[in-house]
Amino acid sequence: MVTDTHSQVRVRFAPSPTGFPHVGNIRTALFNWLFARRYGGTFILRIEDTDTARRVEGAVESIQDGLRWLGLDWDEGPVFQSERLQLYRDGAATLVRSGKAYHCFCSPERLQAVREEQTRNHLPPRYDGHCRELTQAEVNRRLAAGETAVVRFKTPLSGETGVSDLIRGEVVFSNATLNDYVLMKSDGYPTYHLANVVDDHDMGITHVMRADEWISSTPLHVMLYDSFGWEPPQFAHLPMILGPDKAKLSKRHGATTITEYRDQGYLPEAMVNFLALLGWSLDDKTDLLSREELVANFSLERIGKTAAVFNKPKLDWMNGVYIRALSPAEFARRALPYLEHGLSADIGRPLNIDYVASVARLVQERAKKLDEIADLCEFLFRNELSYPCEDLLVKGMEAALAQEILNRVSLVVPTEQNWSAVSLEEAVRPLSDDMGVSTKQLFGTLRVAMTGRTAAPPLFETMEVLGRERCMSRLAHAVQVIERQYPELASGTGT
Ligand code: GLU
Repeated sequence: MVTDTHSQVRVRFAPSPTGFPHVGNIRTALFNWLFARRYGGTFILRIEDTDTARRVEGAVESIQDGLRWLGLDWDEGPVFQSERLQLYRDGAATLVRSGKAYHCFCSPERLQAVREEQTRNHLPPRYDGHCRELTQAEVNRRLAAGETAVVRFKTPLSGETGVSDLIRGEVVFSNATLNDYVLMKSDGYPTYHLANVVDDHDMGITHVMRADEWISSTPLHVMLYDSFGWEPPQFAHLPMILGPDKAKLSKRHGATTITEYRDQGYLPEAMVNFLALLGWSLDDKTDLLSREELVANFSLERIGKTAAVFNKPKLDWMNGVYIRALSPAEFARRALPYLEHGLSADIGRPLNIDYVASVARLVQERAKKLDEIADLCEFLFRNELSYPCEDLLVKGMEAALAQEILNRVSLVVPTEQNWSAVSLEEAVRPLSDDMGVSTKQLFGTLRVAMTGRTAAPPLFETMEVLGRERCMSRLAHAVQVIERQYPELASGTGT
């Protein structure tokens, strides 16, 4: 934690619950959180829920769920804007009183007609100022008569508004290109702009760190601060996140709800590391950074100006690195829910945690995501395997040879006391020379008998985990599979 001029840092993550939070939203949350933690500041969660028509059921829970999963703890909030409406109404009234905003009575039909006319004339769609100069008497009369009205900001018709952005530098907007934006809607709810500015001021926000797409709203915000006579916060607009095809990241690129990454078995520490590098870097080469290292090193100076590219293979790689770095016990603990969820329903629950721990050791090196584990090791939990007889006949070997391999293996495997991968290998490997078969064939047949698969984790370690009893019954079962297909090989037929 650094305590210098930033010691009063107060930042917020201010999502609108109009959808479930995706990678882009959470990257914004993370950068704010890192900045707050770096400078010992305060991280606030504010839910911008004044757009009642677009509110999505469950979005608020999903936002908090995603933040909790990644360990992005907030110090204040959640603050719901819908519970603070009076504050915004007062703000709008102040601006109307000081002549910075005005009531507009235009009907949706009239606004539509204006827009169509502008489109026909190839002009940008914009309010035409129809109600800008209504007299106070007229406004009062129409309000008293019960006419519905919105409150619009009276944007200067000329001049420029500059936005100082900590990342983008000085960005200047010509006021003539700006609109008379709506601040209060006719339903008495504020728009994003008014509520956002009023709250940032009220909550003492020092730095507004948000997605790049908001920069076009910022000149209005700057003018609002000015109109209220308030000091604006510092702005930092974060670079866009693009898909690998350089188009804006979208669902099409797999940019789904953040918690879906959890469900797919990405570790939160990998996700945090990965998201931190979407627009920020320590240097030009370091990819792996722990949460503590990120907090210790995060700075606005190293946020890039250019768009970041969401590189899914990199995330998968990183997740594999973090998975391998877990202690075996921790890996087993994390794998357990994925096994409980992912293994077939006919496998008995609850799973035995000790057995899960020994199974987990087999797959920890190989899993890129925790949701792959169930499939990788389902065979370890089944009582009976099912596979076609041909799979046992490695490289077209005779059924009789496969049968003999299985029978001979069951005669040489070590006792319960000596049961280990090493002693298994010592016992089984010599059969290759004894029987004149390649180890490929010998181990191949055995692998199918033990796992039901042709590709699986290392054979003898797998057998060690399965234990003697299971292995013996799998060997016997494999012999039966052969004898069912080739009845002439069945013992006792005299052939
Ligand atoms: N509610 C806005 C959003 O959903 C907040 C933008 C801002 O941080 O000012 O992204």
